[in-house]
Amino acid sequence: MLLIQNGRVLDPASKTDAALDVLISGDRIVQVGAGLSAPGADVLDARGLVVAPGFIDLHCHLREPGQELSETIETGTRSAAQGGFTAVCCMPNTQPVNDSASITRGIVERAAAAAAVRVWPIGAVSVASKGEALAEIAAMKDAGIVAVSDDGKPVATSRLMRQVMEYCDTLGLPVIDHCEDPSLSAGGVMREGPASLRLGLKGVPAQSESICVGRDVELARLTRARLHIAHMSTTQSLEYVREARSRGLRVTAEVTPHHFTLTDEDVRYDSSYKMNPPLASRADREALISGLADGSIDAIGTDHAPHHPASKEVEFDRAPFGILGFETALALGLRELVAKNRLPLMRLVELFTSGPARVLGIERKLAAGQPADVTIFSTDHPWTYRVNDSPSKSRNSPFDGTSFTGAPMATIVAGRITYQRQSASA
Ligand SMILES: [Zn+2]
Ligand SMILES: [Zn+2]
Repeated sequence: MLLIQNGRVLDPASKTDAALDVLISGDRIVQVGAGLSAPGADVLDARGLVVAPGFIDLHCHLREPGQELSETIETGTRSAAQGGFTAVCCMPNTQPVNDSASITRGIVERAAAAAAVRVWPIGAVSVASKGEALAEIAAMKDAGIVAVSDDGKPVATSRLMRQVMEYCDTLGLPVIDHCEDPSLSAGGVMREGPASLRLGLKGVPAQSESICVGRDVELARLTRARLHIAHMSTTQSLEYVREARSRGLRVTAEVTPHHFTLTDEDVRYDSSYKMNPPLASRADREALISGLADGSIDAIGTDHAPHHPASKEVEFDRAPFGILGFETALALGLRELVAKNRLPLMRLVELFTSGPARVLGIERKLAAGQPADVTIFSTDHPWTYRVNDSPSKSRNSPFDGTSFTGAPMATIVAGRITYQRQSASA
């Protein structure tokens, strides 16, 4: 048994914000209450800390199978645990692509043997994510996928999108789309605008994303199926999502920590600033933050996208898209959203817990009978992010060397402490 004592329990699902203890037995929560005692239990003193439901990341890349030089299920999930995540959804753009039950089973088995947190695979929409024939989605669902996506690319055609939405609706799976119009974005490496002109880098217009979001929302209207927009980054995309929701469509969205933190004005000739979608304008960032605050956006998804150092240490134009995300996500949320009074701490916790859970159609709360997944964090612990100390195999982060206030202090998955920060060292 494990007793988490003296913490401030923040549970968005029940709107609880109170000094409570949490008692865990095996892999389940057995009691949440004031002044609990459990003779013989291990005690975790959470004095001064927030005790929250386990964080869920809807969007990451663990690179296994096939790109183990950049990351593995083991190293990626150790980084996730260090970021306070207890469950991560991994995108299917591995080598080979996760487009069949046998590959899904391989990921699930590898995770059971080596992962520090729960791994929930996302299956491909189409065979090899080529945008042609549908992948074997029902068989992948039986093997453990929680959603489908061709992430890395958009679902290629309206016809395929309609087909997968109708099919996944009968299976109860959300369709996650990486929204981009490749005919507009081709060759672009950052957001098109004054900053791309100044740097002399080829730009991608905001419309590359919003045209695809508009298409997908129209298809959600047609099919009435569940649609989730990955890494949403533009004002107009958010408008489409808001309009869809106001009409009762089942459309959800996530935003990454880098899109609510940085803008195209921050881009330098450093491939740690190259991601897809690219960093957006200041106005877009403002819009995204308002959407995170008012409930139009459901989740913070990291889009943790490791690339081994050799592949990123090249000219900006030639570098692959993507940055690390797990370990800095909470600290960026605390700094950019809570400390700047853009939203309350309870809402930030919701964006990491019950928000993403709802997208997946599951519950996430601290209550008797629930899985013992708990994230314990500090809102005032000072620390500095050193990417060279990361358990990840990759080093591509624009936040290396940044000092933060507030950090994950302990991550508990199925009743086991899988990460604990030494509070003495910063
Ligand atoms: Zn993507
Ligand atoms: Zn991605």
